[in-house]
Amino acid sequence: MKGISSVNFAGKKVLVRVDFNVPVDENKKITDDTRIQEAMPTIKKLMSDGASIILMAHFGRPKKGGFEPELSLKPVVDYLSELLNQKVAFTQSLDFNDIKELADNLKQGEVMMIENIRFYPEETKGDVELAKKLASLGDCYVNDAFGAAHREHSSTATIAQFFPNDKYFGLLMEHEIINLTKLMNAPTKPFTAIIGGSKISSKIDVIKNLLPLVDNLIIGGGMSYTFAKANGKNIGKSICEDDKIQVALDLQEEAKKQNVNLYLPVDILAGDAFSNDCNIKYCPEVNIPDELEGMDAGEKTRELFGKVILDSKTILWNGPVGVFEFENFAGGTNSIAKYIAEATDKGAFAAVGGGDSVSAIKKSGFADKISYISTGGGAMLEYLEGKTLPGIKAILD
Ligand code: AMP
Repeated sequence: MKGISSVNFAGKKVLVRVDFNVPVDENKKITDDTRIQEAMPTIKKLMSDGASIILMAHFGRPKKGGFEPELSLKPVVDYLSELLNQKVAFTQSLDFNDIKELADNLKQGEVMMIENIRFYPEETKGDVELAKKLASLGDCYVNDAFGAAHREHSSTATIAQFFPNDKYFGLLMEHEIINLTKLMNAPTKPFTAIIGGSKISSKIDVIKNLLPLVDNLIIGGGMSYTFAKANGKNIGKSICEDDKIQVALDLQEEAKKQNVNLYLPVDILAGDAFSNDCNIKYCPEVNIPDELEGMDAGEKTRELFGKVILDSKTILWNGPVGVFEFENFAGGTNSIAKYIAEATDKGAFAAVGGGDSVSAIKKSGFADKISYISTGGGAMLEYLEGKTLPGIKAILD
């Protein structure tokens, strides 16, 4: 592992790619600073070494090519200045002469930030020339943006080639890699994966890649209705991908072949509309009347899933098992969080990933009980699919 812990960066200009793509409200106030907080250990370590730090990050999805005021990183820079209790140098200019001047004037322990890196349309193409210009600003490169590690962009991957002996994983990246390796390379058995969320189509490759590794596979949430329909059940108006019925049947067959116990919901909380205040009906079996749609796992399902979770030594959770955004249908997802916390107390290693499961676990109040919560939604999914992430590969090559 090429981490930064054992390296002293005193006097070096260090380019650090971070993931500061934080949510903001209409007044550009940051509504969740988790991503900024998670990059602080790396920034602070470099500051205390006496490095000068040049931060690179993207913000939103610029489309025009060039500066867009509403997607400026200025609010993030102001926030970071407050957090660090020192001014973070910044220019909204995209001209490299201006940026270089700022970088050259940085003193030891000082921090600067380059404007939204995606204002350069070359960034998402992984352009070498842009990477070279960025690289010319510093002596070393640190990638701490796990959330963008699945992107082969100039600042996340291409740039690393200009630092053959001076490229490193930041502390956040290192933490993610160590935990993901533990999960996928040497899981203590029994290993249970809980996969939920709305669509089977976005999780097929994850499920296929997990089947040889896991003992138990729990499928919940919206995607379970495609399985239910494939198995001849009435699913009423529930969300379903009709073109994935055969995929569901194939996955079930594959699970059987690989001796994986597959668990699907056995009872359902259904509603007469997709809203929190709809009329709720309990379906003791997966036999949902035509006018209703499945919204959450029922009590029997929660117990069934819970028993499997409590008997596990390694647990992976990605995707809610119900429409957890609606309070009346958050019970199933909360119970998964509760059982995972209990299993962790008994010594299991539990990993949670994917934006929705992470916010669900935070909402449930059990987040501090979880061994590892991934910061990367798409990046974690691609890792679970067995793909090599360009942001990781570029440092290791
Ligand atoms: P994904 O992004 O595929 O992980 O899906 C997350 C979304 O799945 C969340 O917004 C949930 O509300 C949604 N979801 C979970 N269960 C259901 C369900 N039974 N019907 C509709 N949507 C669901």
